[in-house]
Amino acid sequence: MIEFWIITIGLFGMVFGSFSNVLVHRLPRRESVVFPSSNCPKCHADIAWYDNIPVLSYLILRAKCRHCQQHIAMRYPLLEISMGLCWSALVWHYGLSPTTVMAIVLVSLLLVLSIIDLETELLPNTLTFPGIALGLLYNLWAGDIYSSLIGAFAGYFVFWSVATVFFMLTKKHGMGGGDFKLLAMLGAFLGWQSLPLIILFASLSGTVISVIYLIISRKGSQTRIRFGPFLAAAGIVWLLWGPQIWQWYLDLAKV
Ligand SMILES: [Zn+2]
Repeated sequence: MIEFWIITIGLFGMVFGSFSNVLVHRLPRRESVVFPSSNCPKCHADIAWYDNIPVLSYLILRAKCRHCQQHIAMRYPLLEISMGLCWSALVWHYGLSPTTVMAIVLVSLLLVLSIIDLETELLPNTLTFPGIALGLLYNLWAGDIYSSLIGAFAGYFVFWSVATVFFMLTKKHGMGGGDFKLLAMLGAFLGWQSLPLIILFASLSGTVISVIYLIISRKGSQTRIRFGPFLAAAGIVWLLWGPQIWQWYLDLAKV
């Protein structure tokens, strides 16, 4: 029975992944996400429904627009597959429950925000603000509103203070304002208790991977590192295994 839902919700996830590609393309450009309907980002020809089937259309069209024959970016099928896999994995992890709905909303927001951050260095308020509101609403319903409210405020101000001190010392901008709101969103969904581990994981993985990237790409330190994807990944780790990780850490004290 649960297998049926894992597959079905995964398929819905792929369809939502297709819409997410529209969000990734249009939100940073401040375009409407409902009008006009799906069109080719290069020649702007309308895309028929049969050319808009997640992943399949990409394969059938051999990664080329039917009208202008220009290349369709790998990001389109990749986001559709990742979204589908994430939705399936969350149903598998949580079963069918209100937590699953919350987790699907949060992970979808994090995926879309990460890709926008990688492509444009932006984390649009049009996603983070509704995200903060949804996190607060969910916890109001789930009976944990204080932990969520404190999480949202603490998330914002922890990063705001770090960035302000960093700016005073170096006269350089490190994190962007979008990062403050993304951490506020994670705090709103996951409660303030999640913040120490999220910040720790994001900073560690961000530093290690950035150093490796800078060495391999030889681009030097002027390359701006996007922190959004690391925060998003740390948020997902907490969402799935946070309490177990705390328990493991606290158990170390007993030995
Ligand atoms: Zn085209």
